[in-house]
Amino acid sequence: MDKRKLKRAAELIDRAGHILVFAGSGLSAESGIPTFRGEDGMYSNPDVLRYAHADALREEPEAALAWFQKMRDMIDDYEPNPGHYALARICAERDCTIATQNVDRLLESAFLREGLTKEGIWHLHGSLFRSRCDVCDEPLEEPPTDYTAAECDECGGIIRPDVTLFGEMLPEAPYLRAQGAAHVADVVLLLGTSGIVYPAATIPGLARSHGAKLIEINPNPTELSEIADVVIRGKTGEVLPEIDRLLA
Ligand SMILES: [Zn+2]
Repeated sequence: MDKRKLKRAAELIDRAGHILVFAGSGLSAESGIPTFRGEDGMYSNPDVLRYAHADALREEPEAALAWFQKMRDMIDDYEPNPGHYALARICAERDCTIATQNVDRLLESAFLREGLTKEGIWHLHGSLFRSRCDVCDEPLEEPPTDYTAAECDECGGIIRPDVTLFGEMLPEAPYLRAQGAAHVADVVLLLGTSGIVYPAATIPGLARSHGAKLIEINPNPTELSEIADVVIRGKTGEVLPEIDRLLA
């Protein structure tokens, strides 16, 4: 790892009035959660293409809900990695907006286990660990233990995970939060995101045009590398703890 770049990143973070954290699948991939793209990506899995589509919920709800249940149980077995914990420590004492493309709850777990609080981590594509009624949109405080047996108290509709499926619009609130933060952020941390999937493709550029410095942490070059001010080639689970140490 390039020591000068780490130091530069730590200085920018230390000076920043507001930080926008933009997290992608790379952050959770280090915990073992499969990513969507790439050779072994979930997009090459026919079940994902079939059930992660809004049509499946309409056409074969029982099978789709059973699949969501399986996915949630599978993802629930993973643990936060050092990147999640370091990010929690970096953000706990600072004015941070965290926008993630991940549908897991590893960041929430990391904050909790570090004994830190964070008022909301914004899930741009929703979360598998929240749920709502598919008919009236009523959110549930606690996701059901079994999706296939749950129904809405208000209208009797089926209960689904609050994630954005293929063929659905992204939820507006997290996007607006990220967009708002992009206007005021001094630093944007780009963590394990390819910059291809909307809105990762637009928010960092917006922040930059409003004067933010972009820090990219990613083992691979991405669509965002060219516009980043500091590019650190490495895993978030290794780089973020180094930056956290420099800030301590
Ligand atoms: Zn309902």
